Amino acid sequence: MNENSGKIKVLFASAEAAPFAKVGGLGDVGGALPASLMGNFSDEIDIRTIMPFHAVIKAKNPPRKKIGNFSFQAHTQQIDCELFISDIDGVPVYLIDNPYINHDSPIYHGDWQLDGMKYVSFSRALLEALRYLDWKIDILHANDWHTALAVHALATTYKEDPFFAGIKTVLSIHNLPYNGWGSQEAMSQLGFTASQDPDLPDWAKYTPLPMGIAAAQKIIAVSPGYSREILTPEYGCGMENYFQKHADKVIGILNGIDEDRWNPAEDETISHNFSVEQLSERIQNKFDLQKALGFDVDENVPLLTIVTRLSEQKGVPSIFDALPQLLDRKWQFALLGSGDPGLEARARTLAENHPERVACFVQYDDLISRVLYASGDIFLMPSLYEPCGLSQMFAMRYGNLPVATATGGLIDSISDYSADPEIATGFLYADKSTAGLIKSLNLALDVFEQKETWQAMQKNAMTRDFCWKTSANKYLDVYKSL
Ligand code: ADP
Repeated sequence: MNENSGKIKVLFASAEAAPFAKVGGLGDVGGALPASLMGNFSDEIDIRTIMPFHAVIKAKNPPRKKIGNFSFQAHTQQIDCELFISDIDGVPVYLIDNPYINHDSPIYHGDWQLDGMKYVSFSRALLEALRYLDWKIDILHANDWHTALAVHALATTYKEDPFFAGIKTVLSIHNLPYNGWGSQEAMSQLGFTASQDPDLPDWAKYTPLPMGIAAAQKIIAVSPGYSREILTPEYGCGMENYFQKHADKVIGILNGIDEDRWNPAEDETISHNFSVEQLSERIQNKFDLQKALGFDVDENVPLLTIVTRLSEQKGVPSIFDALPQLLDRKWQFALLGSGDPGLEARARTLAENHPERVACFVQYDDLISRVLYASGDIFLMPSLYEPCGLSQMFAMRYGNLPVATATGGLIDSISDYSADPEIATGFLYADKSTAGLIKSLNLALDVFEQKETWQAMQKNAMTRDFCWKTSANKYLDVYKSL
């Protein structure tokens, strides 16, 4: 670090940053982490975010200023970009537009050629934006495959470029299996060369996330648990040998949540605000939801909830398999989720078969998510793997106790009833099969009937410290250490 530079200058590059653009946890982190660093450590750090000017942000039309236009040469193509500046909670946010971003498209197309061109071009453009701004940074903090190639480019294309000399790089892994595979054609069109790192397996040398991993000075997994898991064949996605060999550059820092934006005492989207001190108010949210869904309005019927991307990763099939086997027990179930068409169909079928106790919102909706967090008794999170997971944290903050698999960030954020009921905030289970879920859910349904224990657990959950400041401090330490 340059001793004379004063504040550490960090560019935080992300595909998502809430509230501008959010598909999952990356959006929560992209919004809240830079804001927490800026809010708590502004005398030490100058952090700014850069992201694509997605159509969804254009539709929200946030206040912004155009900075200007710049172009750069990528292999045989000239890429013309527009640069804007806006703000999220005091953090300057640069928005980049170019022909591969500038159309009416989702944040992710789900089409590798289109996503490849969008994010490969963005990874170059975000570096060229620095040059255009004449902002010499100390640290580039990239996130996931979408921006990993910027780290690789610094170590290759820009290695001898004096403007970028001395920049240190951090790459956060939010989800290792999403490695950018399929964007090889885009990389070759835009002139990216393969990683020469002999420690990478062959397939990984021309795959965006591993290319960034090899080039970065520090790799941050989004929970300590996940940082250990990715060293194993079960979770390492073929990169476990690389991580084992380079374990000294891998650390885990648990994500936090934005406790201002997610506060049941002030959340305007729920019908009744509540807090640990006024927990009795909480039940009104459940009654309102039961009424709205046409369920029996009954305090003693536990309301199961889930808010999720519908994907295999989230273990959703085990819920669809488990619930029909538990019909002799009292429960109701409300699902909010979208994604895999097959799982969307299974959700609809379950609701059609049991309309008196199952309701499924097959969509993405922030407002409904808050209603479910605030109304549910039990929050299901049967993930097959979970790098960090934020949904379980929102659920706990809103007094909704998770039943979750013992994996990754779920272990780091949930205190298990079976380990110690006194400090418990939820239920963890190791056997990720349907049988494992049924067993854990049966236990949770039993404990739900012990009103005092349940309430004590709710209070544990609601007062657990998930605030970003603690984690942001750890990120600051990483920046300083480079
Ligand atoms: P992931 O990033 O793997 O999707 P996380 O638990 O880390 O999982 O973060 C998910 C985030 O996305 C949470 O903020 C959750 O509330 C939100 N979310 C997921 N699905 C939906 C949905 N259908 N509607 C609204 N919010 C959703």
